[in-house]
Amino acid sequence: MLDCAIVGGGPAGLTAGLYATRGGLKNVTMFEMGMPGGQITQSSEIENYPGFFDHTKTGMDFMDTWQEQCFHFGLKHEMKKVERVAKTGEHFTITLEGGEQVEAKTAIVCTGSVPKRAGFKGEDEFFGKGVSTCATCDGFFYKDKPVTVVGGGDTALEEAFYLSNICSDVYVVHRRDEFRATPQTLDRVMRKENIHLITDSVIEEAFGDTMGLAGVKIRNVKTNEIIQMDNTGLFVFVGHDVNNSVLRDENDKFICEMNDWGQVIVDLSMKTSIPGLYTAGDMRIEAPKQVVSAAGDGSVAALQVISYIQEQQ
Ligand code: FAD
Ligand code: NAP
Repeated sequence: MLDCAIVGGGPAGLTAGLYATRGGLKNVTMFEMGMPGGQITQSSEIENYPGFFDHTKTGMDFMDTWQEQCFHFGLKHEMKKVERVAKTGEHFTITLEGGEQVEAKTAIVCTGSVPKRAGFKGEDEFFGKGVSTCATCDGFFYKDKPVTVVGGGDTALEEAFYLSNICSDVYVVHRRDEFRATPQTLDRVMRKENIHLITDSVIEEAFGDTMGLAGVKIRNVKTNEIIQMDNTGLFVFVGHDVNNSVLRDENDKFICEMNDWGQVIVDLSMKTSIPGLYTAGDMRIEAPKQVVSAAGDGSVAALQVISYIQEQQ
C-alpha cells in the first residue's frame, strides 16, 4: 500500500513528491504518463520563476533538475497513464492503463489542463514562437509593442486588460459581435483606450519565418475583408480542457465536487470534497496557471497528506 499516489508529474506533482518524501513518507509513487516536467517543457523560455533567470535555458532545461532533486529524496516514478482514481473504503484504488491496480492511503491528482487551440493556419507552427496561450508568461516579451488577442470570453478580455498595461495596443479579435464575457469585464475593457475590439472577425493566418511570428491576417467573416497586422504577438484564449478524466467513476460521474468548467473544487489546503484526496496546479479552481503557483499547491497538498496520514494512525 502506497502512502501517497501522485498522478501527474508536472511542477505540481513533482513538488508534491519532494515535500511528501522529504517530509518522511516512505512509499510515494508519482504516476506520470510521459517524462516528468509537464507543460512548461514545451516552452522555449521561462523568466518569471523566482531565482531562475537564464535566457539560454528552455523549459525542458528548467525542469531537468526538479526530477533529480525529487528522486534523490525517494520519490518513485512510474511512467504509466492513470485511468481512474477511486475511493475504496478508507483507501484509494489507482487503476493504470492496462488494468493494473495500486492501493494508496492518499492521492494527489495533478494532471493539469490544456489550453484549446483556435485552429487557424500557422497556429501550431508558431506556437511558442510568437503565438502564446499565457499572458502572464509571455506578455512582457511585448512590452510597448502591439499584440493581438483571440477570443470573446472572460479569459480573453481579462488577459487583454492585463496585456494593455504592458503593451502599446491590444487588438481583440472575436468571431461574433456579442461577447461571452460578463458585462462588467466587457465594460472595463471598452473603457481602456489602448484596447481595440475587432468583432465578427477571425484569424485567417499567422505568418512568419524561421525567426518566428511576423504578423497576422484578420478576416471579417461578414465582408471577407482582410486586414494585415505586422509585428504583433498573438495570444489565443478560446477555453481550456481540464485533464480531469481520472476523477470520473465507471458511471462517468466525478468522484469529488467540480465547478461548471470541470475544475476541481479545493480549499486553501488543496483538499477536495473526498477525505484523503487532494489536487494541485492547473486543474484546480482559480488556478493562476503558473509554474510557481502549481509548485506551491503541490507543497501544500503534500504537507496536508502527511498530517492526514498521522491523524489516521
Ligand atoms: P502540467 O504541467 O500540465 O502537468 C500535468 C502532468 O500530468 C503532465 O506531465 C501530463 O503528462 C500528466 N498527466 C496528465 N494526465 C495524466 C494521466 N491520466 N496519467 C498520468 N499522467 C498524466 N508558466 C509560468 O509560470 N511561466 C511561463 O513562462 C510559462 N510558460 C508556458 C509556456 C507554455 C508553452 C505552456 C504550455 C505553459 C506555460 N506556463 C508557464 C504554464 C505552466 O507550464 C503551467 O501552469 C504548469 O506547468 C502547471 O503545472 P501542473 O503540474 O499543474 O500541470
Ligand atoms: P469561454 O467562456 O468558453 O470563451 C471562449 C471564447 O473563445 C468564446 O468567446 C468563443 O467564441 C471563443 N472561441 C472558441 N473557440 C474558438 C475558435 N476556434 N476560434 C475563435 N474563437 C473561439 O472560455 P474562457 O473565457 O476561458 O472561460 C471559461 C469559463 O471560465 C467561463 O465560464 C468564464 O466565465 C469563466 N471565467 C471566469 C472568470 C472570472 O469570473 N473572473 C475569468 C476567466 C474565466 P463564442 O463566444 O463565439 O463561442
